[in-house]
Amino acid sequence: MGEDRMDGGPRSAIVVGAGIVGLSTAWFLQERGVRVTVVDREGIAAGSSWGNAGWLSPGLAIPLNEPAVLRYGLRTLLDRDAPLHVPATPDPRLWSFLSRFAAHCTTRSWTRAVRANLPLNQECLEAFEVLTANGVDAPTIDAPITAMFENSAQAGALVAELRRLADAGQEVSWTPLTGADLRAQVPQATDRITAGIRLDGQRYVDPGRFVESLARAVVSRGGTIRHRFEVAAIRRHQHAYTVQSASGRTLSANAVVLATGAWLGELARKWGVRVPVRAGRGYSFTVPTEHPVRGPVYLPGIRVACTPYQGNLRVAGTMEFRRPGDPLYQERVDAIIASARPLLSGVHWERRTGTWVGSRPVSADGRPVIGETAAPGMYVAGGHGMWGFTHGAVTGRLLAEQITTGKQPESLRPFDPAR
Ligand SMILES: Cc1cc2nc3c(=O)[nH]c(=O)nc-3n(C[C@H](O)[C@H](O)[C@H](O)COP(=O)(O)OP(=O)(O)OC[C@H]3O[C@@H](n4cnc5c(N)ncnc54)[C@H](O)[C@@H]3O)c2cc1C
Repeated sequence: MGEDRMDGGPRSAIVVGAGIVGLSTAWFLQERGVRVTVVDREGIAAGSSWGNAGWLSPGLAIPLNEPAVLRYGLRTLLDRDAPLHVPATPDPRLWSFLSRFAAHCTTRSWTRAVRANLPLNQECLEAFEVLTANGVDAPTIDAPITAMFENSAQAGALVAELRRLADAGQEVSWTPLTGADLRAQVPQATDRITAGIRLDGQRYVDPGRFVESLARAVVSRGGTIRHRFEVAAIRRHQHAYTVQSASGRTLSANAVVLATGAWLGELARKWGVRVPVRAGRGYSFTVPTEHPVRGPVYLPGIRVACTPYQGNLRVAGTMEFRRPGDPLYQERVDAIIASARPLLSGVHWERRTGTWVGSRPVSADGRPVIGETAAPGMYVAGGHGMWGFTHGAVTGRLLAEQITTGKQPESLRPFDPAR
């Protein structure tokens, strides 16, 4: 193989997946002297890391497996326009995943996921700062998230969620907003909006620009990125692995990191990872607004996230349990617009561009899967669900530490792939 393992850890690594998680891992591995090759079945940010809302929001990183999500899902199962959508398909794997997910929609399992996330939340913004201070040329912008509500029940539900987060140890500071304050922050709020909450200490990015810039940084530090390299098989040797693409090309290195987002399940299962990961697909598009939008806007009642994006507004929403490669369903976009239009004024919905569907990697127990598999030198990093961008950089940093030192950082223990 020509690849020797050094005492201090692997000399070379192949990272499969050029999203925020894979590229962050590659960057932090380089920081520790590892030679990296990143491969992607399509290219940079070809998955969920492109069209997402771009919030770096540790204060709102609420795991998906809330008991309320299960109640909501059951209530809206037959409503085609609901933000949570499960198609009536006879896919036994999907239904087995959903039943495991439902079994984890308990206060106990959710609290466990919240506590597990605490160190990630604490360090995530700093990990982004390390990247932007060292050559990643894409700003992370400080801005509060403004959540807006049509009635006090909606506001009460988010406050109750935030209190539960705070009770579990999450630092989160929010300020109730009414009337003039709310409209000063979000002039687009229509009269239907009666209350708001401002969450301070959050940031946002242009996610595609960030990941592209991160990829350039990896290359400028000597890394290689291979596009259209879909990993179809991986073979293990002594102290090395060979990955093979669908077209028969091969690459070898001492270590492999599977960071394939919603596709993680397929490859990881072969290495003994039993935590299922499925695609929770979301949609986004960009619309011009009459007046600039100052910062991220959250509409919890309809589960829509809006972010200033290249002088316009990116609108994101929906959780649809379909295969990542399924087509984009226009009716999901129409449902987002129909629900958001009465709440936001001065938005040119008909001039929307960049309609996109992407797959959040959702794990069955609400926790990501990060660490070494049963095969030494084979690692996985994924399953971050709704918060993979927020947690992407810090995941890369912690995993690079584990790969190069051989010691699992304490904060990665709850995410052990062997659980
Ligand atoms: C609508 C929407 C809004 C969101 N908003 C936010 C937000 O505001 N904040 C936040 O923190 N998170 C948000 N998320 C979640 C976030 O986008 C994801 O959790 C995150 O991008 C996952 O990153 P990843 O690197 O794990 O996966 P991905 O970005 O999906 O990358 C995986 C890569 O692996 C490649 N791949 C797959 N299989 C193979 C193979 N066999 N061989 C080679 N390559 C392969 C794919 O092509 C892809 O490029 C949102 C998601 C959606 C859909």
